[in-house]
Amino acid sequence: MAELDIKKYKRRAYRKRKDLGKFLKKLAKSKPKGILKTVVAADKEVWKEVACLSCGNCCKTMTPTYTRKDINRISKHFKLSYQQFYDKWLKVDENKDIVNQSTPCQFLGKNNMCSIYEIRPDDCAQFPHFVRRDFLYQAEEKTYINNLAHCPATLVFVEKMKELVEADL
Ligand code: SF4
Ligand code: SF4
Repeated sequence: MAELDIKKYKRRAYRKRKDLGKFLKKLAKSKPKGILKTVVAADKEVWKEVACLSCGNCCKTMTPTYTRKDINRISKHFKLSYQQFYDKWLKVDENKDIVNQSTPCQFLGKNNMCSIYEIRPDDCAQFPHFVRRDFLYQAEEKTYINNLAHCPATLVFVEKMKELVEADL
């Protein structure tokens, strides 16, 4: 699979950041009824255009947040204790979240595949957090705008959302 041109998406994200940020703010404020249906429709469209295996930028440049449950599950897989696993790969960041010590993620394998896919952290499984009940809260908390330049799928998702609902706001 050909690598996606991340620089091209980044440039588009920087160009559109202000406009898409304004849209998300307005959307979160107006709380339109039935928004989840539109989210599901936009989500479906995104994955026709963006293939994560041709990107991998989240695993290369960002870190997931680990829960204790994640650490217990993954450390067991490596036959390490919680503490051994933590010391080898993790740290606490400025928000007191447990995160990777470095990027790219130590579990990123060849061809942008996750080597622990079945047992990956919940945060990874949920990323980029589109279809979720608290979608409007996430929009308000700037989840999507903060990920805009890092995740091509997020850029395309917010563009699609704007196309689908802006006229009704
Ligand atoms: S655990 Fe897997 S999905 Fe999560 S950041 Fe690392 S490589 Fe990516
Ligand atoms: S979730 Fe976003 S950043 Fe991660 S691989 Fe998919 S498109 Fe790329």
